[in-house]
Amino acid sequence: MTARSGPARRGGKRRAQISPEASQALKQAHAHKRAEAYSEAAPLFADLAKGAAAKGNNAMATHLAYQSAKCRFREGNLDEAMAQVELAVGHATAAQNPTKFARKFGRMIKALRARELEAQADQVSAMVQERMGLSKLPKQGDPPPVNRAMRRRLPKACASCGTRVDTAEIFFNDDSSADCRMCGSALTG
Ligand SMILES: [Zn+2]
Repeated sequence: MTARSGPARRGGKRRAQISPEASQALKQAHAHKRAEAYSEAAPLFADLAKGAAAKGNNAMATHLAYQSAKCRFREGNLDEAMAQVELAVGHATAAQNPTKFARKFGRMIKALRARELEAQADQVSAMVQERMGLSKLPKQGDPPPVNRAMRRRLPKACASCGTRVDTAEIFFNDDSSADCRMCGSALTG
């Protein structure tokens, strides 16, 4: 499967932009997270994830619930963190590229183990495998070397949340596609 033969995004189906209120809340959530105000960031991310899921944007809902879970782990609120992981995994199973999200959870599992949260790491791993029907988690590849062609293909702004794309700060997936750091939507030119 190649990026080109992928989902019918090229057909020009325009995704709905998020509302100005949601856009503001998204910026606020990230600002709180950057300032390590995790208990303030987490509920904002959780609400935004709910809104994205209600609109059927599963990729965005996954990313935002994942962000909320990360903040809850940082805060030390493990129950709420696991509840958000469960929601994120649920959204990921409905998304177009579950393997990409399985890798994302792989990174979370690694980070949890690094912080000696072994029980939680095991739970996340079991949940992802069970819900996604995987016998094991996909291998964590190194992100591909980023070249000029990859950067050139990126849009100036994210079509979903409107955030300007900073090409120096993009996360590229193993298949060379890129995701918006703010909302988790795939960036397509
Ligand atoms: Zn975005």
